Amino acid sequence: MPAGRHFLQIPGPTNVPDRVLRAIDRPTIDHRGPEFQALGQEVLSGIRRIFRTREPVVIYPASGTGAWEAALVNTLSPGDRVVMYESGHFASLWNRLARRLGLEVDLIPGDWRRGAEAPAIHERLVADREHRIKAVCVVHNETSTGATTRVPLVRKALDDAGHPALLLVDTISSLASIDYRHDEWGVDVTVGGSQKGLMLPPGLSFNAVSRKALAAGKDARLPRSYWDWGEMLGPNDKGFFPYTPATNLLYGLREAIAMLEEEGLENVFARHDRHAEATRRAAAAWGLEVLCAVPEEYSSSLTALMMPAGHDADRLRDAILERFDMSLGMGLGRLAGKVFRIGHLGDFNDLTLMGTLSGVEMGLGLAGVPHRKGGAQAAMDYLASCARPAAAKAA
Ligand SMILES: *Cc1c(COP(=O)(O)O)cnc(C)c1O
Repeated sequence: MPAGRHFLQIPGPTNVPDRVLRAIDRPTIDHRGPEFQALGQEVLSGIRRIFRTREPVVIYPASGTGAWEAALVNTLSPGDRVVMYESGHFASLWNRLARRLGLEVDLIPGDWRRGAEAPAIHERLVADREHRIKAVCVVHNETSTGATTRVPLVRKALDDAGHPALLLVDTISSLASIDYRHDEWGVDVTVGGSQKGLMLPPGLSFNAVSRKALAAGKDARLPRSYWDWGEMLGPNDKGFFPYTPATNLLYGLREAIAMLEEEGLENVFARHDRHAEATRRAAAAWGLEVLCAVPEEYSSSLTALMMPAGHDADRLRDAILERFDMSLGMGLGRLAGKVFRIGHLGDFNDLTLMGTLSGVEMGLGLAGVPHRKGGAQAAMDYLASCARPAAAKAA
C-alpha cells in the first residue's frame, strides 16, 4: 500500500470523513428497541432538512438505483407514459429501468452536454391533451457529464402546460452539495443516495415524497413490496422500519447531517461552487474543454473534461492512479475514453482540491497529453483571492 491517503476524486463514492467513520464504528443495536427509536426519529427528521422538505423522506438500505425503482413503482402503473430527458448516462439508465418495469418512456434525446431542456419537455406536455403522461423524470446533476438541470424551469414547464404529471428528480450526486429544494420547487419525488454529497459509504438511498405523489400511489399498480412507501411510513412515524435497517449507516447519517448543519447548508453549497470554479479555471489554463456547454448549468460537484482528439482518458487516469494513487472518474457510456471526471464534492477543502489538480497536471505531463502548464497555479490564484464562506471560516 502506498503511504498517505488515497485520493478518491471520483464523483461518488466520495471520501468519508473521520467523524462519520467513527460514528459508524459502534455496536449494532436492536432495531426494535428504544435506543434505535431515538436514532430513527433523529435521522428521519434530520434528512428532511437536507432535502428542504416537510414531507416524509423514506430511507432504504439500497444503492441509488433502488431508490430510482422505488420512485417509479410507488407512483405509476404498467403502460403509463413517462417523459425523460437524456441528459447523460444516468438518465439513460433510469430510462432503461423504467422500460424494464413496463413503463412507456418518451426519452427526449440530448447531446450529453447540458441539463434537461425545459422547452422540449413543455412541448411534449402541451401536445398531450389527454394527460396520458403520468410523470416527468429528470436528473438534477448528471454525474456522467457535469451538467445540471434547472429544476425550477422544469417545474414551470409543467405549470405553464397546466399538466398534472408528477415531477420526479434524481439528486443522487447533488443532494448536500448543490442547492436543492424539494418543497419550494414543487417536486413530487426526489431520489437521493448516501455516497456522494452526504459523505457516507454506499448503501443508503432516499425518496422524498410529496402529498401528491403519495396520493398517486394509492392507484399505482406496478407491483411493489420491498419498496412500498406505505410499508415504511407506518413504522417510520415512530422512528422504526418495517425490516432491518442499515443501523450503522444511520449512525453515520446522523453524524453527516450534524456536520452539514454545523457548516450550514448555504456554506456547503458555496464551498462546492468555489471549488468547481477553481477547477474550471485550471482547465482553461490547461487548454482542456469543459464538457458542459452551458455555463448556467455547470455542476458544482464534479467537472468532466474533454481529452484532446486522439488521446485516451483512461490512459491518463491509469497513469495518475499508478503514479499518484488518485482515482478520477472515467467516461461513462458514449463518453468512454473521451472524458475524465474530477469529483470535488463531499468532504473537501482548498488543499484537497489543490492536491487533486496538481495530480491531474502532473499526470497530463506524464501521459503526454497536449496541454499548457499553469492550471494548478490558476486555481491557487483564484482560491487565494476569493474568501472562504464566513461561517466555514469560523468553524
Ligand atoms: C451515482 C448515481 C446513480 C446511481 O446510484 P447507485 O448508488 O450507483 O445505484 C444514479 N444517478 C446519479 C445522478 C448518480 O450520480
